[in-house]
Amino acid sequence: MIQILPKRTLLPKRKPHKIRAPFKKILIVLLTVQGLWCLSENVTLSNNISATNPNIVLISIDTLRADYLGCYGYSRAYTPNIDRLSNQGILMHRTICSIPHTTPSHASILTGLYPKHHGSRDNAYPIQPDIMTLPEYLADYGYASAGFASHFLLSPKCSRLNKGFDHYDVPLRPNYMTFTDQNGNSAIISNKFVPAPEIVAKVRQWLPESRQPFFLFIHFYDCHRPHRTQPPFKLMDLPGSYGREVALVDQAVGHILSALEESTTLPTYVHLVADHGESLGEHNYRGHGTHLYFPSLEVPWIIGGLKTQLPKSITTNLAKTIDITPTILHMADANANTSFDGENILDAASSKTQYAMSESASCYSSETGKRIRSVRNDHYTLIYGPASGIRELYDETNDPAELKNLFNMKHEIVTDLLAALEVWHSDDPGVDNKPENELEPEILTELRSLGYVLESSD
Ligand SMILES: [Zn+2]
Repeated sequence: MIQILPKRTLLPKRKPHKIRAPFKKILIVLLTVQGLWCLSENVTLSNNISATNPNIVLISIDTLRADYLGCYGYSRAYTPNIDRLSNQGILMHRTICSIPHTTPSHASILTGLYPKHHGSRDNAYPIQPDIMTLPEYLADYGYASAGFASHFLLSPKCSRLNKGFDHYDVPLRPNYMTFTDQNGNSAIISNKFVPAPEIVAKVRQWLPESRQPFFLFIHFYDCHRPHRTQPPFKLMDLPGSYGREVALVDQAVGHILSALEESTTLPTYVHLVADHGESLGEHNYRGHGTHLYFPSLEVPWIIGGLKTQLPKSITTNLAKTIDITPTILHMADANANTSFDGENILDAASSKTQYAMSESASCYSSETGKRIRSVRNDHYTLIYGPASGIRELYDETNDPAELKNLFNMKHEIVTDLLAALEVWHSDDPGVDNKPENELEPEILTELRSLGYVLESSD
């Protein structure tokens, strides 16, 4: 039954980076992986495939801000299923994506690498052919795998992220449809994604046929503009069209969780993440891709357990989406003989995370060389793009909305963060001059329609 929420009275507000009062009652457990397994009855510690290896599910909700979920403290959210998942496991208090664009960010999620290392620096630019993906690592340990992606930007041609999947389902081309809004205004818009209910149906069909253990990747795109929410969410008093899309996807997550409960016989770990967030007017900007403020970069990361138990907990470590692959590999007891830019976030003892790095995309920009970069630590965010005149520092503890630029006031902190940024940038091969004409006109037209191709101001 759908609950009708109270009439909207407040604009969405970002919570400060503090553990909320209800969570203070919860013992904060920074789990080691070994400790995690001790709490899971049927999981083997062997490196060989075993009937007791867990299933791993990775749900990526495109364009989902963490602070629009109830479990992250948003009182006006209608996200009961995602909140329930968080009640069955671990919630990363603060997770930063490496780049706020769909193709390269998913590449980071599925490789554990920053864009400079996997090679996808913008939408529709695939990873380098020799880069290993998460399903490839897991295949070495006997995992079956399937991916259900809802947007052509994750197609083999645009991303090469089908690598390693036994089954990979994705729209291969963009297409268009006529959309009429509630005021009767019609427009030709991109219809390039598979709606959440269709993704759910495909997963439901695949699940009973799959052998276990499996790795299952599911990608929902509905939170991305343009928003076309249908009833009943259209009729609910939720925070804007974006909030209604979040509610719609939450319902789809609920269907996926139910299907997993019905079909799986093994312990199953469900990671729920996002590739990037969405600016909804903050800093006078709507969208994602070119700005590196918190609405675009801070995403949810929840790990829930089905048919097994995870202790409800919150990790306060600064997490990154490049940590997802190494964390999943540890949970699957699959040791990859490679080094990642990310790390197993659950292994607090060996955590080396001090900084989370991010970059804007600019392959399509005529203003080449103006890529913006940012570095975050537990307390501060530095956003740096000298070619664009951007030099900003924010105190995340006291100014979570990132409104007061402290760049010229906190010299010691700026120096430290700039040094970290310089080290990170030092092995960047650079791609700022990648020509637009590498892309097919059809794909370029689609990206332009989404606002991803920046036109020259000359
Ligand atoms: Zn995206």
